[in-house]
Order: sequence, then structure tokens, then C-alpha cells
Amino acid sequence: MTVSIWQADGAQPVREADFLIIGAGLVGCTAAYFAQQAGRRVTITEMRDIALGASSRNAGFMITGLDTYYHHAIDKWGEAAVRELWALSSRTHSYWRQFIKAGNVKYTDCGSLLLAESADEARDLELAARAMQADKHDVEYHSNDPLKRGYFAAIRQPWDAAVQPYELVQSIFQQSGAELIANNEVYKIEQTEQPYVTVYTRRYVFHAQYVLLCTNAYSKYIDPYFSDKVVPTRGQCLVTEPLKEAVLDACGYSDYGYMYYRMTFDNRLLIGGGRNHHKPAENDTTDDRVTDPVQRTLEAYLHAKFPDVDAAIDRRWAGIMGFSVDGLPLVGTLPGKPHVGFAVGFTGHGLAMGAGVAERAVDMLLTGADAGAIHARRLE
Ligand SMILES: Cc1cc2nc3c(=O)[nH]c(=O)nc-3n(C[C@H](O)[C@H](O)[C@H](O)COP(=O)(O)OP(=O)(O)OC[C@H]3O[C@@H](n4cnc5c(N)ncnc54)[C@H](O)[C@@H]3O)c2cc1C
Repeated sequence: MTVSIWQADGAQPVREADFLIIGAGLVGCTAAYFAQQAGRRVTITEMRDIALGASSRNAGFMITGLDTYYHHAIDKWGEAAVRELWALSSRTHSYWRQFIKAGNVKYTDCGSLLLAESADEARDLELAARAMQADKHDVEYHSNDPLKRGYFAAIRQPWDAAVQPYELVQSIFQQSGAELIANNEVYKIEQTEQPYVTVYTRRYVFHAQYVLLCTNAYSKYIDPYFSDKVVPTRGQCLVTEPLKEAVLDACGYSDYGYMYYRMTFDNRLLIGGGRNHHKPAENDTTDDRVTDPVQRTLEAYLHAKFPDVDAAIDRRWAGIMGFSVDGLPLVGTLPGKPHVGFAVGFTGHGLAMGAGVAERAVDMLLTGADAGAIHARRLE
């Protein structure tokens, strides 16, 4: 996470870069694609390697929408902003489908089910469904449990999907035409006059025309601007051994998004979430190791909701998400650094919003276009 004076003293070889992206995750690689489409030559510098952050540790849900149920989002952001954000999410999914088609990416149009774990959540789901239907989103509302596993109600979003997220990022990167410099951490960014931005990394000093931070959870370690805006937050998953038969036909999402489950492409049951029961330990950490308390919560959920699944747990993992303090992604430029933009704070929804947000961030940096509801000025 840090670079010592012995590893790099600022006297590293200078490299010119036209459009330099920091972070080769889902968002960085997608931004690279858009910058290249806009005629820029793109270099990505990444402290690990392609997609080794949250982007290949997630559950692969392509669920349209925000981190909160639709009517709550309207209460919080207003109708116009929610419509704009929903359109941004749909646009994101159109881009993913384009990248999926062009690459060798596992994917299924399985739809998603937002499920209620309680009578209270069922009431919220019904209100969410009504608000979505009023906005002409063609969701199905179920006042009972379509899975017959003890849920109280459900919304089915038939157009949603599940993807192999690591393959998706690889495909986007290949289509971006960008150059990747892996194993190369950024430790300082200076806005200079000519060339515009100097970026100090372990192996090189870059002179770049434009710089875009796509560092999500890790952003505050590069610039204190993000310290009160994006909180690194751990998410954990487990998967079983392959099952004889699938026990789900959709991405399942419940407890206000704190629990999620799907089948993998080789018929394993994946269960993730549970961090709401362990928030002090799971918030404000970049340690992407699993912990016993969260894994016990996930196992208990597996046994409670899927008692018919009699398979050993084969793998457990963790990843670090960047939670913005208000739940929406952040696009903007750093104070005093007009050629340093950012697209961060995906709040566990990079597959819901990532492409649309990356597109706006590139546009804003290159043309000054307004980023709309995701502009970071709302938190300044
Ligand atoms: C367990 C889990 C389940 C999830 N499930 C879903 C889901 O089903 N659907 C969904 O939409 N979202 C999900 N998410 C969230 C999703 O994975 C993220 O929103 C998305 O990956 C964010 O992409 P990113 O490119 O912004 O971040 P990352 O993939 O984290 O990329 C940031 C990159 O920046 C690099 N970096 C950081 N600092 C530096 C530096 N100083 N120098 C160089 N490089 C640096 C990092 O190494 C990293 O590769 C989940 C996340 C987790 C952890």
C-alpha cells in the first residue's frame, strides 16, 4: 500500500503518457476503453495486476439499480435523479453485454430476485415495486416466496444477469487497446504546468496529459480528498462443491442487499454478504482475508435457507469495496488538479453502474461535460 524511499526516490525513469489511468479493475479498464474511443493513447498503471482487486472477487451480479430499494432512493435523491441513475445502470449493462459478446466471457441471462427476509422488508419491496412500475420498469412483484425457502415476498427483474467477472475485465482490457504496467504502485500525484501532471510510481515517473483515478476502495491512500468520502469495506463469499442440480435460477439478493446468492457456471452455490452483523470489523479495512465470524454467518445462512444443499464448502474469499458515504459513485476532478479526474465509490455496485460512470468520468475530464447526479460536488 505504500512505497518506501528505498523502493522509489522520485529519480525513476520518466515516461510520457497521454491518458494515464491508475487501477486496472473493472472501472479502470472500462475507462481505458472510453478514453481510447475518444482518441487518447491510454496507459494503465496498477499496483497488483489486472482485476486483482474487488473486480474479480465479487459475486458477478449484473443487477440494475442502486444500493437501496427504489422508493427509498426516490426519497433520498428525488425522482429525476433516480431516473437518471437507473438509466445509467441500464446503459452500463448494455456496455457489459457488448464486451461479453466480443470476448470469451461466461454469462447467463438469469434475471435477479430481490427477496424479503421479514414482513417489514416485504412491505418495502411492495413499495419499491409500485414505484418502479410507476416509472414503467417492467418488474414482477410476488407477494409470496417464489423460491419456497422462507422469504416473505420478492421482486423479479427479468432483464438482469450473472457474469464471470474476471473474464469480463480481461475482455474489456483486451478491447481497450491500452498498455498495462502491472506491479507499479502510484504514491504521489502533482499537478504541474507543462506537462500537466506528474505521477510518481514505484518504477517510473509519468508526465501525463490526463490522469484518472480508478482506485475505488484505495483512493484515500493516494489523496486525502477521499478520506471522508470513500470507506474501504470488506465483502466476503463462500462457494460449495459442485451440486448435482441447480437450487436457484436467478441472482438472489435480500436483507436490503446484505445477503446474496447465485449458482456458478459449474453448479456451485455461492453465498456472500453478512457483513451487517460484523460492521466494526468489516468497515475501514483493506485486509482482503476472510474472517471466522463472517464466514460462520454465511454458513449459518446456507444451512438455514438451503437445507437441501448437502455439499462441502470448497472456497472462501474476501475483497475490498469502496463505499461512498452517501451510497452513490463519485466522479470529479481533484481540488487544484483539473487534469486529475476520478471515478470511485461504487458501494458494492460496480457491475450495476461501472461503465456508465467510467464513461461520464472520461467525458468530464476530456471535455468538461457535467457528471450529473454522480458529481462529487454533492459531498464537498
Ligand atoms: C465480495 C464482493 C462481492 C461483490 N459483488 C458484487 C456484485 O455481485 N455486483 C456488483 O455490481 N458489484 C459487486 N461487488 C463490488 C464490485 O466488485 C466493485 O464495485 C467493482 O469491482 C469496483 O471496480 P473498481 O475497478 O472501481 O475497483 P477495484 O477492482 O478494486 O480496482 C481498483 C484497482 O486499483 C488498484 N490500485 C489501488 N491503489 C493503487 C495505487 N496506489 N497504485 C496503483 N494501483 C492501485 C488496485 O490494486 C485495484 O486493482 C462486490 C465486491 C465484493 C468484494
